[in-house]
Amino acid sequence: MIKISKNIVSIFDTFFRSKSDAAAEGGRGQADHSLHLKLWIGTGIVTICTIILAAGLLLRTYDDFITARRNLHDLSDYRLLLDAANLLSAERGPSNDVLGEPPTIGSAARERLARFRGASDAALERLADHADTEQAAERHVPPAILRGVRQQLIRARGEIDRLATVPLAERQVADIQGAIEGMFAVVDQLQPGISWKVQRLVERDARLAGPVMTGQMLGDLREYGGRIASQIMAPIAARQPLALNNLIDFSRTRGRLLQLWQLIGRQDDFATDDPRLAAIRRDAERQFFGDGLTILVGLVQEGRGSGNYSMTPAELTALFVPTLQPLEKLRGGFLDMTIERVTTDRDRALRILAAAAGLTLAILAILAGLIVSAQRFVFRPLLQARNMVIALADDRDVAPSAAASRAREMTRLFDAIAVLRGKLRERAALTEQLKLLAETDGLTGLLNRGALERIGETDAMHRGLAGEVCMILMDIDHFKQVNDQHGHLVGDQVLIAVADLVRSIVGPADIVARFGGEEIAIVVPGHDIKAAIDLAKRMRLILQQHEMIVTNGKRLCVTASFGVARGIRGGHAWHHLIEAADDALYRAKSDGRNRVRWTPPVLLAAMPQAAGLSSPAEQPPRGARL
Ligand code: GH3
Ligand code: MG
Ligand code: MG
Repeated sequence: MIKISKNIVSIFDTFFRSKSDAAAEGGRGQADHSLHLKLWIGTGIVTICTIILAAGLLLRTYDDFITARRNLHDLSDYRLLLDAANLLSAERGPSNDVLGEPPTIGSAARERLARFRGASDAALERLADHADTEQAAERHVPPAILRGVRQQLIRARGEIDRLATVPLAERQVADIQGAIEGMFAVVDQLQPGISWKVQRLVERDARLAGPVMTGQMLGDLREYGGRIASQIMAPIAARQPLALNNLIDFSRTRGRLLQLWQLIGRQDDFATDDPRLAAIRRDAERQFFGDGLTILVGLVQEGRGSGNYSMTPAELTALFVPTLQPLEKLRGGFLDMTIERVTTDRDRALRILAAAAGLTLAILAILAGLIVSAQRFVFRPLLQARNMVIALADDRDVAPSAAASRAREMTRLFDAIAVLRGKLRERAALTEQLKLLAETDGLTGLLNRGALERIGETDAMHRGLAGEVCMILMDIDHFKQVNDQHGHLVGDQVLIAVADLVRSIVGPADIVARFGGEEIAIVVPGHDIKAAIDLAKRMRLILQQHEMIVTNGKRLCVTASFGVARGIRGGHAWHHLIEAADDALYRAKSDGRNRVRWTPPVLLAAMPQAAGLSSPAEQPPRGARL
């Protein structure tokens, strides 16, 4: 039984004993098999791999997010810049109107011009960042460029305002032309700023090159779309024929516009399926390249001839400026779309970032949960099971542990341990029973001779017996006759009855055994042989008076002879003690039976209290043998 349990313990040890356990127990090399350690190592590796993979993914996604966010800021700044350029271009419209009308304070054209100037100033103000930081320097157009733009703007406006006070008839074409070109120069001053911004954007993210260039071309389209009208505005305002340089400028700008329009159409970023942009493109094609340019071409023809223009600058502005609107819308719409796309990129990057972070956290949480669960639902129960098996192997009783929150497999393991526990108990009971059977006489229920020998010879501490004992050996008188007269069965009944009677007389510490056929031995603990003799006498008397009713209804009485001796247990001394008691019994028989005889203590003859106890009836012929 113990062997089986030890085997089970070693199996448990093999599976989950920790390294420290193994080391503590002398390091028999089983630490390598520790499931616990393997799980920790495995989980550690998975955790590290997860963190590495997640870190790679998170860094990349974070990078994408940061780039998209920066692009968004940059594009918004870029848009502000193009808006400012657009507003400066747009200011030319009312400027031309003012130049084309007589000096009229508070005219509608002047009021419009004031509004447009306000809008341009606000746009320029937005471009300037007053924060003197590295980030601001990185993001915003260099102040020197903006300063140049402002100075040119002041000059150009001053020139326009000065000319506006001159009576219409006295205004020279060259002066008007100069004032108009002064406004062109304002936008030209801003161009380095736009180029600077474009360069920054492309340097930061090459993917922006396409949309940024397209945006710039669309800005140029609007600029030159406005310029082409201004280029013939001076002769119209002065009501003079078109000069050659006006004609050259007009043709050059027209060619440039058509070229730009073609280039823009070929841009990948522009070839979009966006229906809004497609509609604006159609409008631009029809209104500007169709109606707008046709009006201008008509005026150019008039200018090349008589110089009698069919419309005033204000009328031209009123007709022509609306045809520029689709160009403005196109630029705005395209930038909106680009910003929208980058915003979508940024949002998607943010979503991926959040998802990756969430997923990583979830995986790490699951791993932590696995470790905790393994600890709680696997290793702790396994250790518990191991301790239970060890306890069972050591023959210690173990309380079945609480089965709360236990996995099915573990419940089965503990069920198996419970079965083992039951089986071990069953076996222990069976072994006890077998031991009892092996020690018990089948007929009388007394201890058998073998058990008596073991008690006497080897098991010195058995049943509290130690050191000196007294032995009473009794033999039923003429028992053979009982058998002969009443049969063997009745003889058996008599033997049982005598055994019961003896058992009822002796004390609880006394040992009663069937010594042989109808002989019974009583071992009385202690050295008081007198008490043992008294006990033997009492038994003799009681037996003599005891009437036994046997199977056939007959009543029987038997007597017995008793031999008493004192000695010690263990080895040869025990045999001497039995011999001495047997000698005394022999004497009791030979003295006539139904009597008690005793022998001086074996091996303890020298002891004074034993010496005086020799049977007075006769000196023992053999009993005093030492
Ligand atoms: P005494 O002792 O007085 O000298 O005479 P006895 O007749 O008792 O002598 P002996 O020892 O020769 O006989 C013992 C008899 O006991 C012999 C045997 O048949 C009988 N006997 C021994 N064991 C049993 C048993 O288990 N059952 C029965 N019925 N008889 C037994
Ligand atoms: Mg006998
Ligand atoms: Mg006998």
